[in-house]
Amino acid sequence: MKTIGLLGGMSWESSIEYYRIINKEVNARLGGLHSAQSLMYSVDFADIEKLQHTGDWDALTQAMIDAAKRLERGGADLLVICTNTMHRMAPEIAEAISIPLLHIADATADSIKAQGLQTVGLLGTRFTMEGDFYRGKLENDHGVEVLIPDDERRETVHRIIYDELVQGIIREDSRKAYLDVIGDLQGRGAQGVILGCTEIPLLVKQKDVTIPIFDTTTIHAKAAVDWALRNS
Ligand code: GLU
Repeated sequence: MKTIGLLGGMSWESSIEYYRIINKEVNARLGGLHSAQSLMYSVDFADIEKLQHTGDWDALTQAMIDAAKRLERGGADLLVICTNTMHRMAPEIAEAISIPLLHIADATADSIKAQGLQTVGLLGTRFTMEGDFYRGKLENDHGVEVLIPDDERRETVHRIIYDELVQGIIREDSRKAYLDVIGDLQGRGAQGVILGCTEIPLLVKQKDVTIPIFDTTTIHAKAAVDWALRNS
């Protein structure tokens, strides 16, 4: 089995899910006492969040490259960035290391296409919903049409991520707010919805929604296991 390198801490509330899922998945596939061979480098999210909201993406790119190199030096065979937002600098990170980077949007697009869907809604941070790095990849590389919430709803989705979910706060009224946003996207033609922030699956579950959800944490973690076992 290859060693999965997890770049985590963004936030640790979702990194712990990655760790749980990759271990469960390896055990489900190999049985016995098998578990995932992995390394995690986990950052202090307070530093990251400050740089995100002051728009210092150059400093963030340097921080991500530094962390990715630490994982590579530690013996990781694959890089998994445990956040959608920080794939904004995925091309620069991939360029700086010699191990492969498993892009969360590629893994998610494969899952959407496997279900035969063409149009999906996207929930995530403002950076993920509004930037081109994520939607552009889905649309241009995979031919998946992406709908995003209107400005007011994007603000709600973003605020709940930073004020609550990354701090492990799960509130019923926030779940209702997310279901309202998903209902609006569904009314506009979304056949499914991408939970494009790795903490959203802590709040919204498939049972809450009538269209398919794409839980990027689970999809990405399972794709990492596929890779680690396929390349052994
Ligand atoms: N975990 C979140 C994501 O998947 C947001 C935290 C971050 O800004 O990295 O985008």
